[in-house]
Amino acid sequence: MIHRNYFASDNSSGICPEAMKSLAEANQGYEVSYGEDAWTREVCDELRRLFETDCEVFFVYNGTAANSLALSALCQSYNSIICADTSHVETDECGAPEFYTNGAKLLLGKENQGKLLPESIETIFHSGRGLHFPKPAAVSITQSTELGTVYRPAELLEIYKVTKRHGLHLHMDGARLANALAFLSLTPKEITWQCGVDVLCLGGTKNGLAVGEAVIFFNKALAVDFEYRCKQAGQLASKMRFLAAPWKGLLAGGVWLKNAAHANQCAALFAAQLQTIPELEIQMPVEANAVFVKMPPRLIRALHDQGWHFYNFIGEDGVRLMCSWNTQEEDIRLFVAEIKKTLKVLS
Ligand SMILES: *Cc1c(COP(=O)(O)O)cnc(C)c1O
Repeated sequence: MIHRNYFASDNSSGICPEAMKSLAEANQGYEVSYGEDAWTREVCDELRRLFETDCEVFFVYNGTAANSLALSALCQSYNSIICADTSHVETDECGAPEFYTNGAKLLLGKENQGKLLPESIETIFHSGRGLHFPKPAAVSITQSTELGTVYRPAELLEIYKVTKRHGLHLHMDGARLANALAFLSLTPKEITWQCGVDVLCLGGTKNGLAVGEAVIFFNKALAVDFEYRCKQAGQLASKMRFLAAPWKGLLAGGVWLKNAAHANQCAALFAAQLQTIPELEIQMPVEANAVFVKMPPRLIRALHDQGWHFYNFIGEDGVRLMCSWNTQEEDIRLFVAEIKKTLKVLS
C-alpha cells in the first residue's frame, strides 16, 4: 500500500533547502567539538539578535529533551509544574519531565481550546495542604498550542501575572513558536520574554530542520550548569556544528517565518475546503498549521485503508491534519477530493 503521510504531522516533512545548504556548508574540514565552534557561536548570536535580548542558548536533539531539561532547571524534585491537560509534556513525553526533574509532578490545569486558563493556575496553586502537596514552581504553556490555537499577548500577560504573583517560573514549549509568530505578525520578543517567559524551547524540527531544538533562557540565572544537564542526559552533541548550522539557513532572511506562514496558509486553505463538506465539522479555530476536524468514523477507517496516515485526536471521530513548510496545495486538493469520493461510496 502507498503511505500518504503528508498530513500526519509537521515532522513527516523533510529538511528545507536553506537548512540543508547550511548543513552542507558546515561539512568542511575540522571544527572544535561540543559547541565551542564558530557555527554554534554565530547561531547563538543570531538568536540573541532575533529575540532582541541577551539570553543563554543551548541546542539539544529533540523537543522532549528540550522541555524536560528546561523544566528540570526550574524545579526541585518536590516541586510541581502546572500545565494544560492537553500539553505535550503531559501526553507525549512518556514521563520525561518527571524523570528529568527527579520526580516533580505535572499538575493538570483546565484549558480552553488548548490554552491554559489563568484562573486554573490560581486554583491549583491554592489547592493541597501546605507541605503535603508538591510545591508549584513552574507553569508550562505551549505556543502555538497542541490544538492549533495561538495565545494572544494579552492572554500570555494574564498567565504571567499569576506566575509573578506566586513566584512561579514560566516555561514555553515553542515547538511551533514560528507558526504563532506568523499568525500574530509580532516580533519574537513580544510573545516571549516581554510576556514573562523565563525559558523557551524553540522548535526547529517541525519548521524545517532534520533534528534539533534550541533551549533559550531569557532568565539567565536559571541557565547555570545547564550544559551539565544536557551532557548527563545524553543531549550534548559532540559534532555540535551540525545541530547549529542548519539553524543559520533557517533563520537567515526569515526563512523560519516564511516556512511557518506557508504551513499556516495551507491549514487555512485546508479548513476552508473541508468546511464545504456537510458531513465534516471543524473543531477548533484554525490559527496555526493544524486542522482539527470531526469525521464520521467509517470515513476515517476508509481513508486509513486507502493509505492516508493521520491521527485521531479529539475523541474517536476528531482527527488532526497537520501542514508543514513543504505542504503542497495539490495534496490538499487531492485529499479533499478523495474524502468527497469516499463519502459518496459510503452513502
Ligand atoms: C513535536 C512537539 C514537541 C517535540 O517533540 P519531540 O518528538 O520530542 O521532538 C514538543 N512540543 C510540542 C507541542 C510538539 O508538538
